[in-house]
Amino acid sequence: MTSTSGIADAVRFRAGNKVADIDPSATPGFRGSKADAATVLPERSDRLAGLQEMLYASWKGGDKRSILLVLQGMDAAGKGGIVKHVVGAVNPMGVRYTAFGKPTAEERAHHYLWRIWRALPPAGHIGVFDRSHYEDVLVVRVHNLAPPAVWNARYDEINAFERELVDAGTTLVKVAMFLSLDEQRKQLLERLDDPTKHWKYNPGDIDERLKWPQYQEAYQAMLDRTSTDYAPWHIVPANRRWYSRLAVTELLIQALEALDLSYPLADFDVEAERRRLLSS
Ligand code: AMP
Ligand code: MG
Repeated sequence: MTSTSGIADAVRFRAGNKVADIDPSATPGFRGSKADAATVLPERSDRLAGLQEMLYASWKGGDKRSILLVLQGMDAAGKGGIVKHVVGAVNPMGVRYTAFGKPTAEERAHHYLWRIWRALPPAGHIGVFDRSHYEDVLVVRVHNLAPPAVWNARYDEINAFERELVDAGTTLVKVAMFLSLDEQRKQLLERLDDPTKHWKYNPGDIDERLKWPQYQEAYQAMLDRTSTDYAPWHIVPANRRWYSRLAVTELLIQALEALDLSYPLADFDVEAERRRLLSS
């Protein structure tokens, strides 16, 4: 009941998958309960932390590769929880986290990928994008912040951009988190009910919520047009937070395992160093 080996494959977006068919309460690839997930997560988090350390160590040994986790999802989908709980399990030394909000005046003066370039993970690191360049085909599309011809051209441009990243040694782990409209209401209500959560609440979230169908459409186009063999999307149901956390943990483990990492060999004589140390 606690096998997690089927999750990564089960959440991979496949051509023809429809956003309207997603069950936000499902737990694809995992047959266990919340309690089962709690049993298995510590071990999987340790595995992730171990692999991340090896990525970092490989870089010290000259490896230039990196990972980029891209998190997209509506407000209260749990992006922050992924950062806190999943990414939080690894050594912060090797993480480069960036949240992308409404572009600043400086950012607006540049190409939309400018701020993305600047936030890319250095070699040996795991980059985490809490929202991303995909906002430029999501919120921008839904709110007509740019003419259709402009955002329409971005899908191909994003694919070309990601191709470059992959060719330069970055593995992209793209995660689209889907919660239901009801679950979002519940989550937003919790924020309103708890003064210590007011900082997470934004009155504008309601305006986004009212555009749910338009967002569904924009997410569908994003998945259809930017899920590539070199940088595929993953659809992670997000009503059950214990599941989405386990799923993203598995996706990161899979991406790191595929790098076939190993610790770099010492570039000094270990025995000679031992002798020097003991006689010092
Ligand atoms: P949050 O992630 O809750 O802090 O909210 C960030 C807000 O910034 C969201 O409402 C996003 O839709 C918005 N945002 C992010 N990127 C862009 C963009 N490129 N253009 C306009 N709004 C954006
Ligand atoms: Mg928000």
